[in-house]
Amino acid sequence: EVRASSSSTSPAKNIENVVIIGSGPAGYTAAIYSARANLKPLVFEGYQVGGVPGGQLMTTTEVENFPGFPDGITGPDLMDRMRRQAERWGAELFQEDVESIDVKSRPFTVQSSERKVKCHSVIYATGATAKRLRLPREDEFWSRGISACAICDGASPLFKGQVLAVVGGGDTATEEAIYLTKYARHVHLLVRRDQLKASKAMQDRVYTNPNITVHFNTETMDIVSNTKGQMSGILLRKADTGEESVLEAKGLFYGIGHSPNSQLLEGQVELDRSGYVLVEEGTAKTSVEGVFAAGDVQDHEWRQAVTAAGSGCVAALSVERYLVSKD
Ligand code: FAD
Repeated sequence: EVRASSSSTSPAKNIENVVIIGSGPAGYTAAIYSARANLKPLVFEGYQVGGVPGGQLMTTTEVENFPGFPDGITGPDLMDRMRRQAERWGAELFQEDVESIDVKSRPFTVQSSERKVKCHSVIYATGATAKRLRLPREDEFWSRGISACAICDGASPLFKGQVLAVVGGGDTATEEAIYLTKYARHVHLLVRRDQLKASKAMQDRVYTNPNITVHFNTETMDIVSNTKGQMSGILLRKADTGEESVLEAKGLFYGIGHSPNSQLLEGQVELDRSGYVLVEEGTAKTSVEGVFAAGDVQDHEWRQAVTAAGSGCVAALSVERYLVSKD
């Protein structure tokens, strides 16, 4: 039987059953499931995103597509509920960043600024970070005109029926642009280079869509606002001539990619070319037995709160099975 004792560690060796790294939907869901399985999980919540636990949703306002909240819920409220649910079942939470992990020798070691923990298994749920342009007024308009997720925000009243722009020239940007044409009056695709990097199929879909205008050699410089302080346009500069202009638009979507927060596992578990943790298809198993990955750090495709939560559940159930098989 797996750790049914009241202590969180094996008394003799102080070895935890499972350490969860990350406090987004994946980390907290893994914490809820493994705490309910009496595994006494330790969770390193991190403070990388805005200095608070909760992950990417802490930077957004309304979440309208998480099941169970028909009227929507704010990102921070949703994350607070997940956190409290994990705590209620006995997960131990530390608001600390993990600084290093060693999964080359067993038991594994997880080290934060405050403590060093030995454990039999790790759930790595450190998420991903949407790349930003660092525009001068970016912070002012983040979630008030600027978004990094068309699926999340495209249908919001802020953007519906408006002229919108997407910046980027790869598959992400072209997908976002096509998706946004469902809701927007018109979509401008702002491409810094003189061509699209997206696949040929995506390019064809963009070029044949009458609701998308592609602007090549175009640098996105800043947000322009009206007298009420609302976003009204985007300051652009032609890369070849340096000529500046203002494009009227009520929203700017970043489609310049995400960076998975997988640095701590580099050289220890297999990552793909973009740095995403590779998991065996349909599972949370990484290339190292006992190390599981969940959420955006292993998912470059769907990147949703509900998919992250789902994979956190899979990771926790996998840990439970793994520990039983080890005993
Ligand atoms: P994250 O939410 O990224 O959380 C990762 C966590 O790991 C963070 O808490 C971070 O601090 C922690 N961490 C990282 N490194 C360390 C470390 N070394 N030590 C300890 N902790 C660490 N999805 C939707 O489904 N609906 C939406 O409406 C929606 N809106 C969004 C709006 C915005 C602005 C953004 C950016 C994303 C939105 N998403 C939305 C996407 C959604 O937020 C992500 O898919 C989801 O949060 C991924 O969850 P995660 O648990 O994998 O990782």
